[in-house]
Amino acid sequence: MYHVSWDIDTNGILLSGTRPEDERLAVRDSEMRPVFHEELDLLGVDHWIYAPSEAPLLWAVGRDYYCRGELVARAKGGSFYEKPTIEYVVEGLELKPIEVAEMSRRNAALLDGLAQRAIEFIRREYEQRQGKVDVISVAFSGGKDSVAVLDLVQRALPPDAFMVVFGDTTMELSATYEAVEAAKRHWPQLTFLTARSHLPAVETWKLFGPPSRMHRWCCSVHKSVPSLLLLREVAGTPSLQALVFDGIRWAESQRRSTYDATTVGGKHLIQVNASPIIAWSSAEVYAYTFSRADADGGHSLPVNTGYRHGLARVGCAVCPFASSWGEAITGHAYAGCIAPLLEELDRYGARDSRSGEGLRDYVASGQWKMRSGGRSVGGGGNHVDLAERSADMSFVIRNPQESWAEWAKTVGEPSLTGPGAGTIQSDLGHHPFSISTQPHSVEVHLPGLAREDKNAVRYFKAVAHKAAYCVRCRACEVECPTGALSVNGRVEIDLVKCVHCHNCLTFVDKGCWRAKSITVSVKGAGMKGINAYQTFGMSKGWLDEYLGNPNGWWKQNSLGPRQFEAMKVWLDHAGVLDRGSTDLTAFGDRIRSLGSGSLLSWAAIWVQLARRSVLVRWYATQVPFGSAYSKDELIGALGEELSPRTLSNALVSLFRLLEDTPLGVDLGLGVVTRTGRAIDRLTKAGSHSVPPLAVLYALYEYAENLDKFAFSISEIVETKEGGPACLFGLARDELIGTLRGLSSQHSQLIKTELARGLENVFLEPTYGSDSILGIT
Ligand code: SF4
Ligand code: SF4
Ligand code: SF4
Repeated sequence: MYHVSWDIDTNGILLSGTRPEDERLAVRDSEMRPVFHEELDLLGVDHWIYAPSEAPLLWAVGRDYYCRGELVARAKGGSFYEKPTIEYVVEGLELKPIEVAEMSRRNAALLDGLAQRAIEFIRREYEQRQGKVDVISVAFSGGKDSVAVLDLVQRALPPDAFMVVFGDTTMELSATYEAVEAAKRHWPQLTFLTARSHLPAVETWKLFGPPSRMHRWCCSVHKSVPSLLLLREVAGTPSLQALVFDGIRWAESQRRSTYDATTVGGKHLIQVNASPIIAWSSAEVYAYTFSRADADGGHSLPVNTGYRHGLARVGCAVCPFASSWGEAITGHAYAGCIAPLLEELDRYGARDSRSGEGLRDYVASGQWKMRSGGRSVGGGGNHVDLAERSADMSFVIRNPQESWAEWAKTVGEPSLTGPGAGTIQSDLGHHPFSISTQPHSVEVHLPGLAREDKNAVRYFKAVAHKAAYCVRCRACEVECPTGALSVNGRVEIDLVKCVHCHNCLTFVDKGCWRAKSITVSVKGAGMKGINAYQTFGMSKGWLDEYLGNPNGWWKQNSLGPRQFEAMKVWLDHAGVLDRGSTDLTAFGDRIRSLGSGSLLSWAAIWVQLARRSVLVRWYATQVPFGSAYSKDELIGALGEELSPRTLSNALVSLFRLLEDTPLGVDLGLGVVTRTGRAIDRLTKAGSHSVPPLAVLYALYEYAENLDKFAFSISEIVETKEGGPACLFGLARDELIGTLRGLSSQHSQLIKTELARGLENVFLEPTYGSDSILGIT
């Protein structure tokens, strides 16, 4: 990524290998964007003089506007319903179009180098994988990054070597559909295909509930799944191998900053993602865009008009990850595109007895983005009740959408012993079942299931959820490596092809995106005990004091009475104390030996807290990595049942735990930023410094809990019930690298088979998780 400075002459930007000598010329953030006259028109800028022009007029860095390197105005506020206001720093400014051609000439050498490196990368990937993959495609969204990538790929490869796949989420802005048409005109020699779910988004928002930052089902249902299904169709095989060039950039988000330029497998084993501009800044993308003269002698690749209206990112019209700025622009420039989705948000918000100003505020302030439960979704009466009597389990599936018996074939081979009764033979055992059907429900009785392997219980729970909630979104289908599963029209499992890998049961919590999104999660009784720490967090100093004298601490310590009570609970939840006693556990002994200065100690404590503390379990498993959250957003995510005050107090304990121990910053589990004493944001970014032994410890602890010591990488990456990926936010490639290193260093503890498409991990059951903490 080059340094970016202001070019006063052209009102453009200059890329350079070093920072400018005059610091005042340095652009403070290269995630900048050009500002066109359409944005000024939209915001009603009336203190400056400007005329419409094709070229941009000035630049924006965040919400600050710059002209020839000088701050000239700031935008404040704004929402779907209110335009941002402009605070002018310079009045009476006369704006002239940026001299784009000259700016491009001045940047030509560096841009050419940047482009050539990307082109070489594309050719290298192509040559390495050509003949080994079934399809090569460019993922096209109509945004500037995908336009730049498409341009680079078509410069690197012959036009018939790849296809362009536009992922139409059906939540696109009209500007994006126009951008796709413009791209087709710009590159008439290329093959464009459109991938789209058979369910339109206005329909899925009703069925699944509006997406939220906790429930990102739409990225699967509307983005990745339709593209994969389309590529499978093109390749004519379910076991598709695809090379996909995408426009992912590190600078775009914290989550993406952990991605590699090439991701083999990624979410779907069948896909290699190659990201030629992963290291580019947005300044570089725009400089490249403007520098590419088209066939008519113009000065640009096609620019989505969303950017001309002021968007920093062009994506879905209404998205739980959008900024208030983006919403203010779409709310005013694309009101027609967002209206149907805002109606859904209104409908959803109104079910929680909101109306008038309250409802408007719920949408405008983004409270909807933090939905975690599905109480207000409705769900058409679909529901699963689980009853357990001694070792028997019964699922009562109310208003089932699909056949339980059909989905149950994924667990193992069925054989019927009578009407509605039989057994399922899986690698975990022999599972007898009986089904009784009522007018609006089905009861499935599974004798002895509760005594069986935990995975068998998990699989049958997923089957019940699928039977209750399946609306055939087809997300499961792409998880099936053999093509045994078809969800097109109705669910069918081809037993000849099914290898009972259980991918379709475990790829998401509850085995179904819709079940995950609309069932009411750990609320009410499940959240009991969330506020157990009286607003105190455990601090490193407190743990230090305790570990220094674990016997004497009970009589002599520096804590006040309430702090002492809170610390007792923390020690208990951290697994350091034997429940109900003052004795150290074996785990506590290990932590004492490692000391409170060890990152491994804290990582292990986090694993224990995620198992025993309701508060930490919720945060560790339900709050996604890669985003920043305000306190109000987290309260919204926690609470449909408990009082805001209770939840606020619980969160204060969590913030303090993260701030006062290495958990927050060093392990990247939550960096708290404050203004004075008030919390601004909690950023859950993850870290690249998680000790490898902590990864192994988390894996052993997870394995012990499941009583299962062999896993696939996908299982470890996708589970939300613990393990290193979920608890420390490790991306798949990072996890694989760490496990490889561990298996070569500690082969008695972990073995891996990760070459040639295999992804197996084996642990040694005779070792306990605590013994990992004793490795020196
Ligand atoms: S970009 Fe946002 S709205 Fe669109 S699919 Fe992803 S999370 Fe959903
Ligand atoms: S079971 Fe699969 S196909 Fe059916 S709704 Fe759930 S995720 Fe979609
Ligand atoms: S993913 Fe496919 S092969 Fe695996 S259990 Fe499901 S249907 Fe069978």
